[in-house]
Amino acid sequence: MRIAVARETSPGERRVALVPENVARLVKQQHELRVERGAGVAAGFPDQAYEAAGAALADGPAALEGAEVVVRVQRPSEAEADLLPQGALLVALLAPHQGGPLLARLAARRVSALAMEKVPRTTRAQSMDALSSQATLAGYKAVLVGANALPRILPMMTTAAGTLAPAKAFVVGAGVAGLQAIATARRLGAVVSAFDVRPVVKEQVQSLGASFVEVQEVTAEGAGGYAKELGASEQERVLGAIAAHVKDMDLVVTTAQIPGRPAPRLLTADMIRSMRPGSVVVDLAAESGGNCELTRPGEAVVEAGVTVLGPLNLPSTVPFHASQMYGRNVTTLLQHLAKDGRLVLDPQDEITGAMLVVHDGQVRG
Ligand code: NAD
Repeated sequence: MRIAVARETSPGERRVALVPENVARLVKQQHELRVERGAGVAAGFPDQAYEAAGAALADGPAALEGAEVVVRVQRPSEAEADLLPQGALLVALLAPHQGGPLLARLAARRVSALAMEKVPRTTRAQSMDALSSQATLAGYKAVLVGANALPRILPMMTTAAGTLAPAKAFVVGAGVAGLQAIATARRLGAVVSAFDVRPVVKEQVQSLGASFVEVQEVTAEGAGGYAKELGASEQERVLGAIAAHVKDMDLVVTTAQIPGRPAPRLLTADMIRSMRPGSVVVDLAAESGGNCELTRPGEAVVEAGVTVLGPLNLPSTVPFHASQMYGRNVTTLLQHLAKDGRLVLDPQDEITGAMLVVHDGQVRG
């Protein structure tokens, strides 16, 4: 396969779709790799490393010429979409739910597209699961961002100048990002508690050394291991439990999401005002509407001395490892698509079919 790695152009995006190690692996399997000059620089992978791994370098649009597959992290702009070779395959985090004219534009150019968000969450596809790999890093980084904004340290410290009590951290939503946030806060020495509407999570939370905040008769396990929306009385009980618990917290990290729906509202403005001044909330759901009523995406809001952060694209702030993980996800997918060295896009295949959002000149539902 002739594979091209495009340079990212979205503001603030520092990741790259394949790292030199992935390139070396694909070249060994007889694929041809071309990398847009400078594609990996912001992630810590210089052009020379790609060359040494066996890729050819090219400037700008020339990198895409003749490519059968173009790999990216973010969706291209419409102008960039028009530069994709007719009939090629695009692989990226395409945000298909975001809509807009992009997918129709790709269809009109007879470009096929695989959305990395749509990797099925099955054991077989686990190594291609970019949502999980990037959420892991977001959960880790959210705790660091929160710790950095706190006026206190996280661990207990016994010194000649007295004993400092450990910080209390609370993680709301214990999926992939939440579990990593729990582990990170624990490693930094905080006393950690967590809550999730899926009861199966309780054991995982406890095995990481955190306590689980119980809410009577709340279970909202939906399809595919994801959560579903709560009914009104369940939501009321959840909010009551969170309100009682959050008052005493120094750091709160919220990660609760429901696929295809706005993020559930779990922290009200009144709850924020009940917290001690200096406390910090990091809302990882900022991109999908926020778990906290006061969250503003990409901004810091201070209310009654409590800071509410709504960071965007945290994986891009650790671009070296985020690219390494995303690159591994993409590489495994490319290997899945190569049959006897040739690109085969089979809409009947369980993995390819689930990810294929544009094919044969059509946007697929
Ligand atoms: P997600 O990002 O959709 O949601 C994050 C968490 O928020 C989830 O744990 C969810 O239960 C929780 N949540 C939703 N509404 C809530 C509310 N009102 N209050 C509190 N918490 C709420 O989910 P995710 O982290 O991507 O993954 C969810 C599940 O999928 C996990 O069990 C994970 O282990 C599983 N998973 C499986 C695979 C695989 O088998 N290949 C891969 C990735 C994830």
